[in-house]
Amino acid sequence: MAENHLRSALQRRQFFVSAELVLNRDHTAPELEALVEAAAAEPRGLRIISITDLPGGNPALPPEALVAGVLERGLTPLAHLSGKDGNRSFVEARLHALARAGAENVLALTGDAQRSGFLGRGQPGYDLDSVLILHLIESLRSGLEYRLGKRTARTSAFDFLAGAVVNPYKVREPDLMMQLHKLELKLAVGARFVVTQLGYDLRKLYELEQYLDREGLGEVPLVANVYVPTATVARMMQAGEIAGCVVPDALVARLEKETKAERLERGALMLAACRDLGFSGAHLGGFGLAHRDMLGIVDRAEEIGAAWRARADELSFPWPGGKYLFPEGTDGLSDGSGPYQIPAEHPSPTWGARLGRADCGDCLQDHLGFVGCTMRWCYKTLRNGPCGGSRPDGSCEVDAGRPCIWNRVYLGALAAGGTRADEEVSRC
Ligand code: SF4
Repeated sequence: MAENHLRSALQRRQFFVSAELVLNRDHTAPELEALVEAAAAEPRGLRIISITDLPGGNPALPPEALVAGVLERGLTPLAHLSGKDGNRSFVEARLHALARAGAENVLALTGDAQRSGFLGRGQPGYDLDSVLILHLIESLRSGLEYRLGKRTARTSAFDFLAGAVVNPYKVREPDLMMQLHKLELKLAVGARFVVTQLGYDLRKLYELEQYLDREGLGEVPLVANVYVPTATVARMMQAGEIAGCVVPDALVARLEKETKAERLERGALMLAACRDLGFSGAHLGGFGLAHRDMLGIVDRAEEIGAAWRARADELSFPWPGGKYLFPEGTDGLSDGSGPYQIPAEHPSPTWGARLGRADCGDCLQDHLGFVGCTMRWCYKTLRNGPCGGSRPDGSCEVDAGRPCIWNRVYLGALAAGGTRADEEVSRC
C-alpha cells in the first residue's frame, strides 16, 4: 500500500501542508484533475489532498469519486465525510466504500445546511453528527458486530485516521465555549487530529492551541486552515452564504483593494505564523488557486520564517467586541498563561455522554438545562452540541432571526451553576 503521507507526518511530528480540493456539481472537474496531476508531477508537490464533501450545502461530487485518482498518483487523500443528506446506514456504507478504495484518512463533519437542489431545497437529514461519525469510525477500527440471520457477524476491521473540525473564531462566549466543549467530546470518541475552520484573526487561532495546552490536551495535532479568499468569496461568507465564517468589514475592505499577489502573500504570512507557532500542519485552500499558487505560498512562507512576527498585524482582523479566552499579551496574541477571560466556574453542559439516538421520551432536556428541545429548535436536530455554522451574532446558520439553541444551552448551564442570571438565558 502507498505511503499515507498524513499519518507519516503526524507520526514524525513533521509540519505538513495539505491542498484542498473543493468538489462541486460537475462530474468532469477538469481543474481538480489538473491540481492533482500538477501535485503528482512536481517532486516538491503537496502530497496530501483534502477533498470536500457537499460544501456550502449544495449537491456535489462526493470525495469517493476522487480518492482512487489521488491514490493512483501516489498522493494521500483526506476525505471529508459529513453526516448530512444520509442516515447512519448510508454514512456507514460510505465508510466501507472509502476503506475499500484505500482511503484511510477521514475528516468528520456535521455538514452545512441544505441550500439548493433539483426542484428545490433538499430535506434536512442529520441522523449522525460529527461526534457520532467519529464514534462509528472508532467502532469500525475493531469491526462492527451485527446480526446475520441466526449468527453474529463482524465487519472487517479498518484503522481509519479520523480528524475533527473546530471553529476557534466564534465571536461570542457561548458559541466559542460550545465549540471547545464539543471538540473535547470529539477527541474523547476518537478524533486523532483537529482541523480548524478558516478565519482571519491569528490571536483567536493561537488561543485554540493555548486552550488545549491549558486543558491537558496539548498533544493533539492541530492543523490550521489557511484559506486565501477573494473579495467576492469574503462577501459571500459575510452574508452567511458560506456558513460559520467570521469575516469582518475591515478584511473585506482590504481585499477589495488587493491584487492576487497580495492575497497570496497574506496566505504565506499566515502559513509561516502557523508553522512557527507550533501547529502540526496547515490546510491550504482558496477559490481558483492552482497547485503552483499553493507551492508559491509554501516557498514564500519558508522565506518569511519567524519574520512574520514583525507583520502580525497583517493577520489580525478581529470582530469588534469579540470574546477572547485569555488577556492580550505584548505580542498582539493572547497571553496563554494569563487568567481565563470567561467565568471562573464555567461548567460544561452535560450532554457529552449522549451517543445514541434521541427519540421523544428518551429525553435530553435534563442534560440541556431545560432550555428547549434541540430536536425541535435546532435545524439539524443535533444532540451532541452545536454545528460550526452559527453567525457572529449567535443566530442560527439557517435562520438569522433565531438564536442557535446551543447558545441557550450554554447559558442555561451557567445559570444552573449560578454564574449567569436566568434572565440572560431568556434574553439570548
Ligand atoms: S441551531 Fe445552532 S447547531 Fe442547530 S443548525 Fe442552527 S446554528 Fe447549527
